[in-house]
Amino acid sequence: MSRPALARWLSQTNDVTQTFLAAGRIPGLINLAGGLPDPSVWPVDALAGYAQSAVADHPGDSLAYSPIDGLPGLRDVIAARFSRGDLKLGRENVMVTTGGMQALDLVGKVLLDQGDAIAAQSPAYLGALDAWMPRGPAYRPMRLDTNDVDIAGCMAGAKFAYTVPNFSNPSGRLVEADQRQELVAAAHDTGCWLVEDDPYGALYYDGDPLPRLLDLSAKGQGDGPYDGPVIYLGTLSKELAPGMRIGWVIAAPEMIVALTTAKQGSDMFTSGICQRMAQSALEDGLPEQVLPQIIDLYRARRDALCAAMAEHLGDLYDWDVPKGGMFVWAVAKDPRLNTDALMTRGLDHGVCISPSSVFDPEGKDHRATRLNFTLNPPEKLAEGVRRLAEATRAELAS
Ligand code: PMP
Repeated sequence: MSRPALARWLSQTNDVTQTFLAAGRIPGLINLAGGLPDPSVWPVDALAGYAQSAVADHPGDSLAYSPIDGLPGLRDVIAARFSRGDLKLGRENVMVTTGGMQALDLVGKVLLDQGDAIAAQSPAYLGALDAWMPRGPAYRPMRLDTNDVDIAGCMAGAKFAYTVPNFSNPSGRLVEADQRQELVAAAHDTGCWLVEDDPYGALYYDGDPLPRLLDLSAKGQGDGPYDGPVIYLGTLSKELAPGMRIGWVIAAPEMIVALTTAKQGSDMFTSGICQRMAQSALEDGLPEQVLPQIIDLYRARRDALCAAMAEHLGDLYDWDVPKGGMFVWAVAKDPRLNTDALMTRGLDHGVCISPSSVFDPEGKDHRATRLNFTLNPPEKLAEGVRRLAEATRAELAS
């Protein structure tokens, strides 16, 4: 990148990033902008035990150079956790990544040439947009919360489709069962890869989980290892702890080989200590042990945020109560509201929000804001919402 190009790039990204950085330094600010878990949910004692045992009992796995695609034992335990019914997974279907974030980066490296088309759920996860930005992709937005979307039309000729079917970041919405079927059918018909990014799939607070695209795409596949069009991305960040940086890809063996080749030129392999910790945690069923408490805590916080929104924001925004995940997507009723400006004004009122422009590849959607409910206790969520109402009225009056 030339110096002028670097300056242009910085000028595009700077405003929101600078505001977030400034927000971190304001005392008493209530942060509804981030997407962070509550640190109280981390199973610290269990993880400390696994860390100790990783180094002391498994120095070969944890301290040596490791296979690029991950420790064989960890790949096996992930394959076993996800295999069911027609979905038959072997080690060759699984690779370990440094968080789900690295998987997004590797998918872009393997599949995208400059200017290629991506059929992406809209609004889209900021980290994915960041990962693919260097390839200058042409986005075909898919509004999966409406019935008015031509999924097969968007996917035909695109290099891949990208969706977060469970409690999307940022919209908090589920992709409903019929659209899941449609996405999978379109992937089979058009030959377009289908990237299923699923960090929130274990965080259902109401109702039964909907089928994964990965499972739907394996229907009637026969006996061999999975060879379908879905590239499934998982992570331990929400179920255990983001600092472990353990994610994984489940896909057809040839895609795993391609992504592994790309990973070699990226970080060579994911920390062996963390992989060994993850293997022990999954073998012992640690996520299943901690998830009930996480779900109870976050459900209560979702309810607290939504109750405060009903009290203070009913005349200002529209939103759906999410059935899980970490976010509520609030769309301003008044089209004059610009949530970029609201983010800055919110800081004067002691609240930080994420504006919708950062979840739009073109940066043009100014109508909505993403509110996080997992980090703050109920009293703080209620006060944050009160401040947001104040800031919104002030912004509309300005
Ligand atoms: N995808 C989505 C939709 C996310 O919200 C996140 C994290 N917030 C990630 C991927 C990446 O998570 P991690 O790298 O921590 O696994």
